Amino acid sequence: MGINVALDGPSGAGKSTIAKKLAAALKYVYVDTGALYRSVAYYVVSQGIDPADSAKVIAALPDIKAELKYIDGSQHVLVNGEDVSDKIRTPEISMAASKVSAVPEVRAFLFDLQRDIAANNDIIMDGRDIGTVVLPNAQVKIFLTASAEERANRRFKELQEKGDPSTYEEVLADINQRDYNDTHRETAPLKKADDAIEVDSTSMTLDETVEHIKGIILSKTGTKQPPKEKPPREKKERKPLLDFSNVEPVKRGKKLNPFRMFFYNFLRILVIGGFKIAYNLKYEGKENVPKDGSNIFASNHRSYVDPVFISLACRTPNSFMAKEELFHTKKFFVWIIKKFGAFPVERGKGDMDAINLSFEKLNMGRNLVIFPEGTRSHDGKVGKIKTGVALIAAVAQCPVIPVGINFEGKLKFRRKVVIRFGKPISPEQLKITTPGAKELKLLRTTVSDAIIELVH
Ligand code: C5P
Repeated sequence: MGINVALDGPSGAGKSTIAKKLAAALKYVYVDTGALYRSVAYYVVSQGIDPADSAKVIAALPDIKAELKYIDGSQHVLVNGEDVSDKIRTPEISMAASKVSAVPEVRAFLFDLQRDIAANNDIIMDGRDIGTVVLPNAQVKIFLTASAEERANRRFKELQEKGDPSTYEEVLADINQRDYNDTHRETAPLKKADDAIEVDSTSMTLDETVEHIKGIILSKTGTKQPPKEKPPREKKERKPLLDFSNVEPVKRGKKLNPFRMFFYNFLRILVIGGFKIAYNLKYEGKENVPKDGSNIFASNHRSYVDPVFISLACRTPNSFMAKEELFHTKKFFVWIIKKFGAFPVERGKGDMDAINLSFEKLNMGRNLVIFPEGTRSHDGKVGKIKTGVALIAAVAQCPVIPVGINFEGKLKFRRKVVIRFGKPISPEQLKITTPGAKELKLLRTTVSDAIIELVH
């Protein structure tokens, strides 16, 4: 036997709506026994038989085949094969059902059917005599009530939505009459089972009532709530995050304006002089710095002066990817860093604007300086290198020159600073022609290893 939950109560207490919601939440089968009584009533009325005429009703029973079918999780009521799910919900059939249900033979006729369904499934069954007669051994019994006025009010709204012309007074009178019939009939009158828990929903919303009863069921059965089914994930065609299929490799060897180059190098020599005074500055591996442009310098990041340290060793002007936040600081500082060739990058997401700008700068013949850790390291250790540098190098097909910036502690006046340039890493030599995941990983690791080697 599965779990049996009996939900009884007077007409209009909201049993069926609540039972349906509970069944869906707990993955039980909902059995609407009222629908079976309505089926008998429907057949009788459709045959022109007065539902109050017990003898005629009893005589008609052998001709009735009532069934509950579950199609896509919802209950359908069939009478002799005809789906009468909607036709049995009229006030006329409600009253007729109330009358035929008082006939003991009708109750006996539907008894086995209800028992059979309960025997084979986890069910929540609603009705009038489920806890008392049909399923006296149900693990959970709930008796759901609400004041007659509140029940009439709910039913009236429901009927209005369906376009039924009944007035509130008629609905209330109907409810009172059915309450009287249900409680005063001789066989299986509506009454609370001794071991049922009474729930008065008069001042509760529908959802509150459902939650309340769900709590009772779970505490009684000790059943854990079934895990919420996740909606199946739509299978989307996986598009590459960034599409570079239209980006051409950089045409290297572009010459920059000679006048600008002269001015730049003049300034560079002046600044080198100043820097040599401010720091005990040493360059190693300068032979690895190409004389022309369109190279990528990938360096560890120790201080705000790093871009200048690197640029002072390059005859071709550099552009820098600098974190976007720096462009929201003091105007003068922003002006200076822009003059030095900085452009913003939004870290942590594939900033396509910054990547496109990188290609532009490389195509112009400028070098590109990237600090691929994404942030400065205060202890001198090299952190995790991001893939961006490998991506740009692979698409642009430009060599990456690894750089190691070394100094002890904080950068101070006269501090010994050693800038080491490693051998250029060329995507071509590594046979990297496309920015595939494997290729990018290889390039990134090669660059990362090279930087780590230069930091000591
Ligand atoms: O619950 P519902 O209003 O659909 O039930 C229709 C009628 O069937 C009720 O008025 C009640 O008289 C009868 N009934 C019953 N015993 C049940 C379920 C319904 O007598 N278990």
